[in-house]
Amino acid sequence: MCKKKTIGVLALQGAVEPHKPHIEQAGAQFKTVKKSADFRGVDAYILPGGESTTMLNLINRFALWDDLAAEFAKKPVWGVCAGSILLAKTVKNPSQSSFGLLDMVVERNGYGRQIDSHHDEINGYNVSFIRAPVIDAVGPGVEVLAEHEGKPVWVKSGNIMATTFHPELTLDFPSPMHRSFVDLIG
Ligand code: GLN
Repeated sequence: MCKKKTIGVLALQGAVEPHKPHIEQAGAQFKTVKKSADFRGVDAYILPGGESTTMLNLINRFALWDDLAAEFAKKPVWGVCAGSILLAKTVKNPSQSSFGLLDMVVERNGYGRQIDSHHDEINGYNVSFIRAPVIDAVGPGVEVLAEHEGKPVWVKSGNIMATTFHPELTLDFPSPMHRSFVDLIG
């Protein structure tokens, strides 16, 4: 039997623990990562939902940028909501720095205030959009796995994946997105 894969969830801020049962039920191991020493033994990363500006500040304050970029260059990464913003090549509203690993343009809080937060079914699974970004454009190498209101909401390019919604907050384990990410790790 293959050894279980370990998924490191960046635990600087945001919705970290809710990923645990999804990861475990999808057959992988959950680990929180806060500093470079925690990267050992991690096979893939999740950048959780939360507040991308706060995460950027903490990544810079703890001088994690270069080490994270080096890890993301060789291992699968899934960005959830704020995490998807950190992975996008271009961020608008306002523009901010990002790892630029997914060829897409995202607009922060793009669904507008009145529908800041809502639930919807994506591929038959109930998920939460919480002050979600809108993906305005994707490059030719980006595969759109699901759309919502005519815009991509679940995308993948090689071993980099992003969802603008939160599947981890739904208590029906594992979500199809966690299952798919574990499959991607191989
Ligand atoms: N609006 C947040 C941001 O811009 C993302 C919200 C979320 O991750 N649920 O970073």
